[in-house]
Amino acid sequence: MNAINIDVPSAALSSKAHDPESPARVSIAVLPGDGIGPDIVESTVRVLDAAATKHGIALDFVPLPVGLQAIETHGSTLPEETLSALHRHKAGILGPVSHHIYPRDDSRYVNPSGYLRKHFDLYANIRPVVSLPGVKALQPDVDLVIVRENTEGFYADRNLLDGNGELRPNRDVVLSVRVVTRRASMRVADQAFRLARSRAGQRRVTAVHKANVLRLGDGLFLQCCRRVAKDFPDVQLDDLHVDAFAAALVQRPQQFDVIVTTNMFGDILSNEAASLVGGLGLAPGLNVGSKFAMAQAAHGSAPDIAHLRAANPVAEILSGTLLLRWLGDLHELPGLQQAAADIDFAIRETLRDGQVLTPDLAGTATTQAFTDAVLRRI
Ligand code: ATP
Repeated sequence: MNAINIDVPSAALSSKAHDPESPARVSIAVLPGDGIGPDIVESTVRVLDAAATKHGIALDFVPLPVGLQAIETHGSTLPEETLSALHRHKAGILGPVSHHIYPRDDSRYVNPSGYLRKHFDLYANIRPVVSLPGVKALQPDVDLVIVRENTEGFYADRNLLDGNGELRPNRDVVLSVRVVTRRASMRVADQAFRLARSRAGQRRVTAVHKANVLRLGDGLFLQCCRRVAKDFPDVQLDDLHVDAFAAALVQRPQQFDVIVTTNMFGDILSNEAASLVGGLGLAPGLNVGSKFAMAQAAHGSAPDIAHLRAANPVAEILSGTLLLRWLGDLHELPGLQQAAADIDFAIRETLRDGQVLTPDLAGTATTQAFTDAVLRRI
């Protein structure tokens, strides 16, 4: 598997490098979410904690109210107390939230996922898609990363200062406003090129767009990717229309390395890619800004299986390892990189072994039993 070294911008490097004389402590905010969220976030906390402890680093997990539980206790899906605590952190773990079922016209129901991405300017959503041993997959040997713009595009909750980016002038017409800016396109492209440079192998970025139709918006996005490419002569840039890319991804995903694209294309394509290698339960993600990073699996809150207590925690745990790597760079703590590598290894071995698997992988184990099996290998 290729390295996922997420570039840490200098703005985030305000904390001093770790003093080897004092024990290292790193604080991580924990937002459990809805549906399967609390179960898979609990697994993530247990696994991250064990691996970091092994390498002499204490992780302080700070639970914060969010989602439907927070409506009960604090009258909001994203209480003020949670937001202010997050401002005191550099890292968080967010479980999936059931925002699709939140009432639309009730201001107490904010979509925490969209709001936090916008509020903390988490401009890149990094979603690796990697073949894992022992997992039945439609395609073998996949090792790619989708870098998705995260703060604008077609996402109605992100693209206006006030109000919503969808308008309905009369009962039969809806206008959806899509925003593409030079600034957001440049920085997400920069993140993708840095990531490609840090990976062994191809060192290639593929920009995915629809500039033949969305000439101005995707034209600007592609222009920015080409501009950033000039700063990375050691990384190759090519580009594909999103329809051609969607087909090529199914047929020959092995040819791709790092993919950079706009918000909605990235969302759709990362689910497509995850399905090629075994499903949503295995697809991690990290939301990265210049001062804050938030681990968040690519999947939703899976309300259909929440009562079974058998959701696959791999996606959320691997999102946690991406966060550990980011924090390891930030605090100059190689122990966090080693902890992340231990977790990746333990998950791969648990899957390869195949004795303890969750139902989405044709097993019968609960989330907790699978987590225990991973912990035994750390
Ligand atoms: P939401 O409304 O929060 O988006 P959803 O069910 O519409 O939830 P996903 O949560 O992404 O969307 O789920 C899509 C399908 O994948 C569901 O059948 C769900 O059970 C399954 N799924 C998603 N995540 C997992 C997981 N971690 N483990 C097992 N199955 C999962």
